[in-house]
Amino acid sequence: MSTLVFLEHHGDEVLKPSLAVLSKAASLGDEVSGVVIGSNVRGLTEIAGKHGAAKVYVADDPQLEAPLPQPRVDVLAQLVRDQDVDTVLFANSVLAADVAAGLAARLDAGLNWDLVDIAQQDGKLVGKRPALQDSVYVDVGWTSTPRLALFRSGSFDPSEPGGSAQVEDVQVALEDFSTAARMVDQAHEESSGPSIEDADVIVAGGRGLGGPENFTLVEELAKALGGAVGATRAVVDAGWYPYATQVGQTGKSVAPKLYVACGISGAIQHKVGMQSSGVIVAINKDPNAPIFEFSDLGVVGDLHEIVPKLTELVKARKGS
Ligand SMILES: Cc1cc2nc3c(=O)[nH]c(=O)nc-3n(C[C@H](O)[C@H](O)[C@H](O)COP(=O)(O)OP(=O)(O)OC[C@H]3O[C@@H](n4cnc5c(N)ncnc54)[C@H](O)[C@@H]3O)c2cc1C
Repeated sequence: MSTLVFLEHHGDEVLKPSLAVLSKAASLGDEVSGVVIGSNVRGLTEIAGKHGAAKVYVADDPQLEAPLPQPRVDVLAQLVRDQDVDTVLFANSVLAADVAAGLAARLDAGLNWDLVDIAQQDGKLVGKRPALQDSVYVDVGWTSTPRLALFRSGSFDPSEPGGSAQVEDVQVALEDFSTAARMVDQAHEESSGPSIEDADVIVAGGRGLGGPENFTLVEELAKALGGAVGATRAVVDAGWYPYATQVGQTGKSVAPKLYVACGISGAIQHKVGMQSSGVIVAINKDPNAPIFEFSDLGVVGDLHEIVPKLTELVKARKGS
């Protein structure tokens, strides 16, 4: 079996979810290759070797500088054909979802999306996918090759077994229609501190905060703990906090060492995005809130009183 992992990068860093998918693929025992596509991306091959890639294909061309999907589909389609690749894996992102869908259409291949796991069973590749609003997991497979799979962000942790990958250049040949789109502008969200995908600590706020202005309570605790801020869909939908911070079924899956949930009821759709956290602490005034059923530590009380005190204690302990 020959597996290829799409290694998405921002600037000069391969994204952690891509490295996590690469390590997972390498752990299945077959030879795994990665592919980096962009301009001036040769420096990104080393990290792929450390995460288990035996080979890294490099498509390095100024035409690939903008993160547009169709030129990436061209490169991947060419690799699948020339290298007899039978499985292509992606970590979900806006770009990866576009590329995976484009590649499925181009190759007439089956794409299983939103997977949270993958394994070899009786010589067959089987994916695991949440269904019925994440209340059950179903096994999914492919009836033909190439098999394409898009994994939910946060499904795996990148492991670093070490090693180095053989690097192979790809001659880039783009289709005319793939160069028709041009990136005019790329906006970057201004942010400070770690993102929720990378943070070891997440302090998340829900509707119990009472209003967008009270997110400062959550932000201050997150800052004191050196963590990132998360949010529930209820507050994102209400416009209190940006979608990029939404944790859950229709947001991000996260697995920090510590997850502090403030004024969050613990709906199943939120739970699926954070249940893999190391230690879960919940602050909620309702002792019957579902979140207490899967918290390691529960504090029953008004978050407006508890959170500022907790922030002060953390600051005092850290001596700042
Ligand atoms: C298809 C689908 C997908 C969804 N995807 C997601 C998703 O990705 N992420 C997500 O989060 N949700 C998702 N939801 C929504 C989910 O079902 C819940 O509605 C949502 O998570 C509730 O958010 P919440 O906990 O902030 O609000 P609520 O459920 O309203 O809970 C607020 C909590 O705050 C407590 N509280 C109130 N005041 C205080 C106080 N002063 N001090 C302490 N505690 C207080 C209350 O006791 C309550 O438990 C989805 C729903 C559907 C149907």
